[in-house]
Amino acid sequence: MSHQQDRSRPSGSSTALSEAYDTALLDLDGVVYAGGEAIGHAVESLTVARAGGMHLAYVTNNALRTPDAVAEHLTELGVPAEPSDVITSAQAVARLVADQLPPGARVLAIGGEGLRVALRERGLVPVESADDDPAAVAQGYGGPDMAWGRFAEASYAIRRGLPWFASNTDLTIPGARGIAPGNGAAVEVVRIATGAEPQVAGKPLPPMHRETVLRTGAKRPIVVGDRLDTDIEGAFNGGVDSLLVLTGVTDAAQLLAAPPQHRPTYVDRDLRGLLTGQPEVTPAGDAYRCGGWTAAVRGDGLVLEGEGEALDGLRALCAAAWSFAGSGVCGLETGKALAGLGL
Ligand SMILES: [Mg+2]
Repeated sequence: MSHQQDRSRPSGSSTALSEAYDTALLDLDGVVYAGGEAIGHAVESLTVARAGGMHLAYVTNNALRTPDAVAEHLTELGVPAEPSDVITSAQAVARLVADQLPPGARVLAIGGEGLRVALRERGLVPVESADDDPAAVAQGYGGPDMAWGRFAEASYAIRRGLPWFASNTDLTIPGARGIAPGNGAAVEVVRIATGAEPQVAGKPLPPMHRETVLRTGAKRPIVVGDRLDTDIEGAFNGGVDSLLVLTGVTDAAQLLAAPPQHRPTYVDRDLRGLLTGQPEVTPAGDAYRCGGWTAAVRGDGLVLEGEGEALDGLRALCAAAWSFAGSGVCGLETGKALAGLGL
């Protein structure tokens, strides 16, 4: 059961998160791997969590690769996974399409193999041209080799009045050499050309969470992610607890500035956080304490005093910032308080 999280500070847990929750719904990029390589401590932490009985599922907005390919990659990295442990936004969008079209309907597939396989799995027939008599358009990330003509194909079909579906709208995708345009950028191209609006499946939207729960059967899941506007907001929308790890795109300053739907239940440095309890953050007058640290709002900035684990300092700062911000966004100066933590 997810508890009603107090959105004004990170929660504590007296038991290891791997014991408090039955299933970890893990994001991949920035959590388990980055640029194809495993992130530090990910392999050992997942191995220990799994040996202790936690079910691990991998939930990705990337629609390019099939679950088979993702599971093979994870297994190569040292995290044994079955294709059934992988849930992609391609699967979520395929279900969304299948819910609205008759079985056997043709769908113009603008994307990679992951999208085509997912459409077939739902009894739909992927086609390649707007002239192949499709009943809908489905668009997913096609990778660096996707030809510009694919967007033209989508535009022709959508302008003829066909419904348009998108696997996800992440504007960027991180890679080994930097940040590249993601499926959201590709969706914008088609949107500009057509003036149409797609139905979107991926995180943080409900179709993706529904797909994940359907496929994992999780009773007490925890979402583990690196991105506030997909992973953490998706958990918020699904009423599920979440752990933010700082190994991906989110830094401490962004976390302090998060509005309520972007505030995780817990925050930790990396996946080792699954194996430990989480310290309580306690109010102390108008300040907040965690471990050896005390954080408070003074003037137009956050101040932090004490010593100890840097993450405890960040947790105390989260409580001070989020309490101050209430249901809004904390506009306080945070740089000085964070400087001493070395995060
Ligand atoms: Mg990520």
